[in-house]
Amino acid sequence: MDNVTLTMNKKISGILSVKQVDKISNDIFSYCINKKQKCFVEDCKKSAIQSHLLQKNGILKMISANNHFYEVAFLMFPKPHYEIKKVGINKGFTFRGFCEYHDSKIFEKIEKTDVDFNEYQSLLLLSYRAILKEFRVKEIIIDYYVNLLTHSKLKVVFDNEPILTAVAANT
Ligand SMILES: [Zn+2]
Repeated sequence: MDNVTLTMNKKISGILSVKQVDKISNDIFSYCINKKQKCFVEDCKKSAIQSHLLQKNGILKMISANNHFYEVAFLMFPKPHYEIKKVGINKGFTFRGFCEYHDSKIFEKIEKTDVDFNEYQSLLLLSYRAILKEFRVKEIIIDYYVNLLTHSKLKVVFDNEPILTAVAANT
């Protein structure tokens, strides 16, 4: 048992059980990861669709069987762990980045034809999408922690002021 868990167990003793805190955390995480995201294109008001990080009809098709493949997923609950999951080709390696129009328009060159890995613009597009995917993940994680730290039932568990101040200063 690590120090963080021990400290938390002590603080919430008599207030909330660890199981209750895990349930609230799980609900907040599910809410944050599933909620609508705006398209990354400035001034675009449309919601982002599930964009593929890698070319669906390229490398993903190559590693799939019956339109499914395996990916390693990091899951927070019930305890943080990695899991090998079978996923459909339409859902694997995706993130909510762009609306349908911008996703098609911006990444046409690397989605509609075979990717030329020696061509500069194609490499830029692949890199651009990977960076934005990580950016979106960080946004979701910050959203998760802000929701966790401001949840009415958890205010007695965490000393959240220093963290919220740091988040506000960096967003
Ligand atoms: Zn858009």
